[in-house]
Amino acid sequence: MPRLILKVAIDAPLWHLFDYLPLFNAPPPAVGCRVRVPFGRRSQVGLVVVHASHAEVAEAQLRHIHEPLDAEPLLSPSVLELLRRAADYYHAPPGEVLVGTLPGLLRAGRPAQQVVVWQWSLTESAPDPDSLTRAPRQAALLSVLAEGPREESQLDAALPTWRVTARTLAGKGWIKRAQVAPDSATDWTPEVGHALTTAQRAAVDAVAASTGFGAFLLDGVTGSGKTEVYLTAIERVLATGRQALVLVPEISLTPQTEARFRARFGPAVAVLHSGLSDGERLAAWLAARSGWAGVLIGTRSAVFAPLARPGLIVVDEEHDSSYKQQDGFRYHARDMAVLRARIEDVPVLLGSATPSLESLAHGRSGQYCTLHLRERAGSARLPQLELLDVRHQRMAGLVSPALAAAVREELTAGRQVMLFLNRRGYAPVLLCHACGWVPKCKRCDTHYTLHRGRRLLLCHHCGSERPLPTRCEGCGARDLLPLGAGTERIETDIGELFPDHTVLRVDRDSTRRRGALDAHLQAARDGSADILVGTQMLAKGHHFPAVTLVGILDADQGLFAADFRASERLAQTIYQVSGRCGRGEQPGRVLIQTHQPQHPVLRALLHGGYSTFAGELLAEREAAGWPPSSHLALLRAESTRPEDALWFLGKTLSLAAELGHAGVELLGPVPAPMPKRAGRYRAQLLLQASRRAPLHALLRAWLPALAQLPAVRQVRWSLDVDPVDTY
Ligand code: ADP
Ligand code: ZN
Ligand code: ZN
Repeated sequence: MPRLILKVAIDAPLWHLFDYLPLFNAPPPAVGCRVRVPFGRRSQVGLVVVHASHAEVAEAQLRHIHEPLDAEPLLSPSVLELLRRAADYYHAPPGEVLVGTLPGLLRAGRPAQQVVVWQWSLTESAPDPDSLTRAPRQAALLSVLAEGPREESQLDAALPTWRVTARTLAGKGWIKRAQVAPDSATDWTPEVGHALTTAQRAAVDAVAASTGFGAFLLDGVTGSGKTEVYLTAIERVLATGRQALVLVPEISLTPQTEARFRARFGPAVAVLHSGLSDGERLAAWLAARSGWAGVLIGTRSAVFAPLARPGLIVVDEEHDSSYKQQDGFRYHARDMAVLRARIEDVPVLLGSATPSLESLAHGRSGQYCTLHLRERAGSARLPQLELLDVRHQRMAGLVSPALAAAVREELTAGRQVMLFLNRRGYAPVLLCHACGWVPKCKRCDTHYTLHRGRRLLLCHHCGSERPLPTRCEGCGARDLLPLGAGTERIETDIGELFPDHTVLRVDRDSTRRRGALDAHLQAARDGSADILVGTQMLAKGHHFPAVTLVGILDADQGLFAADFRASERLAQTIYQVSGRCGRGEQPGRVLIQTHQPQHPVLRALLHGGYSTFAGELLAEREAAGWPPSSHLALLRAESTRPEDALWFLGKTLSLAAELGHAGVELLGPVPAPMPKRAGRYRAQLLLQASRRAPLHALLRAWLPALAQLPAVRQVRWSLDVDPVDTY
C-alpha cells in the first residue's frame, strides 16, 4: 500500500509545505483540517493542504503528526483553492496565507466551536486614564480598555499583572466583566426598502440575471442609492437560500452601514472586523461557515471567510486603499473578491462613486459590466464644486475670507458645515523663532507633529512621543512657534471665528476613547454640532442630511505628492468629501481652497467630473507605462545599519540578472522616499512589466533564491505585488 503523506501548511516565512505522516491508529485528517504537528523543537498548528504519496524529505526525517484538531474540514474546497491561488499570486509563504488568515483562536488550536469567553470593559463612570498619574497600573489597564472591551486572554498578553488591578478598578465601579455572547436578537421586524429608481432596478436585475460568475462595476455618484442596490440584490440571494458576503473598507468608521444591513436583515447578519474580540470573530466566522448567517459583512480579511452556500459578493467603496493589506501577507481584498467570485462561480458587485482606475479599465475592456447610477436618489441633488483662489488672501489660519463668509451664511440659515483637512494634530511643525530649531523624531527622517490638547509631540510615522518642550533645545529661547495647521488648530481657529456655534472635531485623536466615534457621528447627524472639522474619517460614506457646505481647506496638499496615484487619490478624496453635502432637502456647495487654481488636475476635476477626469488619468498612465497599463511589484528592505538595505537589494538585482528577466524592468535600488523610519534604514527595488506572465515567472524563481542569499540576514525584506503605495 502506498504511503500517505500529509502536506501541511504552517504559519512560517518559508515558501513550501511540510511533510508529515498521519497517526497509525486513526483515520488520516482530510484536506482542509487542522493538525498539531512537531515543528523543530516545538509543536505548531498547521493545515492539511494535500494528500500525497511522495515526500520531499528523506524517509528517516518524516515525523508523525501529534494530533488531528478537526473532524471535518474547516475550509471549503473553494476557499482552499482561493488561498492557494492567493499565495501563488502574491508569492507569499503558503502557511502565512492558509493558516495566517484563520481567526486567532483557530490558529491557536482551539476547537472550531463557539466558546464562552469573558471580557472586561469600561463603565460609564470610568475616569480619563491620563488623570491617574499616581496609579500607573490602573491608568494602563484603563487605557487598554478605553480602546474597547478586552478578553481575559488578551489582557494576559498585554498586562501580566492586570488581575490584581482589575479587582481594584471593579471595586470602584470603573470596569466590569461580562460574558461574550453570540448575537441573539429575536424581536425584529425587517425594514422595508425604498421603491427603486429605474437605474437602481436595472442594476439589481443585471446582477440577479447573472448565472454563475460575472463582475459588475456599480459606478454611482455619492448618494445615488448604491447601498439600496446591494440590499435588494442581497434580498434576492437570500430568497434563494444562498448567502452574501459584503466587504466594507472600515466598518468601525461607518456604523451606519452596518445598522442599515441589520435593519434589513436582522439576525441573519454576522459582522467580522478587527475591532472584535477573538471570541466574537470566531463566532461570526463560524456563523458564515455553517450557513447560519445569511449575510457576512466584514473588512478585508472577511474575503477569506468560508461560506456554506455563497450566492453574491459585494465590495463597497471598491476604490478604498484600506482593502490593501500593508504588512505580512500583502493582498488586495477587492482583487481577491473577484478571484473568489470566479472560483465560487457567483456574481461580484463592486460599487463606488469614484472607481479605481483598475476597475474602470476593466469596465472599458469589457471584463466588468458597468452599471451607472448618475443621479442622486430621492430629492437630493449633487453639490456644486467651486475653486477658491486663496493667493494673496488674508487667511484666518487656513480659512479664507470667502470661505468664512460662506460658512457664516449657512450657519445663519441654521444649516450645518463641514471643513475637511487631511492632517491631524495642532501643527505639523514646531519651530524656534529665535534660532530655527525644530524637534525631530530620532527614529525617523521627519519632524514631530504638535498635539496641543494632549500636550505632546508625536511622530506620525513611528508613534513615538515626547513631552512638549517649554524651551528651545538649541538656544534656550521660550519662543516656540507652531507652524502650519492640523485639524486640532482648525477647531480652535474656527471656534474663535464663530464663537456662538458649536464645533465638533472628528479624527483619530478625538475618537480614541471607546464610543467616542459613535457619539461624535451621532452629534454630527442630529445637528447638535454646527461645524464639523475632520480628516478622512469624516469623508467616508456618512450620511449627514443637514450639511450644505463642505470646505476643503487645503487641496494643494494632494497636488505635490510623489506617488503616481496621487492625482487619483486627490480626486477620490475631493469627490467623497463633496458627497457628504446636499444629501437632504437643501442643495449643497463645495468650496475647494487652493493656491493652484490653474492646476490641470483641479480644472479637469471641476469641469469634467470624476469619470472624465479618470479617463484622462487612464490615458496618462498608459502613456507613462504605469498601472493599470503595466504591472508592478516592489521589493522593500530595511536594516539597522545605514548601508545594508541598499546593499542587499543590489545583491537581489545581480541575482535577477543571473536568472534573466526578459520583459521585466528593474528600477533601483534606491533609498525609500522616507529613508529612515522607526529606527530602520529603508530601500526599495521596483519591478515593472507590461505583461504579468514574465513578472510572475521572474518572481517565482527569484524569491526562493533571494531568501537563500547570505545578505538576507542583515535585513528585513518584503515583496509587495500590485503595491498601492510605491513609497
Ligand atoms: P450611496 O450608497 O450611493 O451613497 P445610499 O444607498 O446611502 O447611497 O442612498 C442615499 C440616500 O438615498 C439614503 O438616505 C437612502 O435611504 C436614499 N435612497 C436610496 N434609494 C432610494 C430610492 N429609490 N428612493 C428614495 N430614496 C432612496
Ligand atoms: Zn532656538
Ligand atoms: Zn518617528
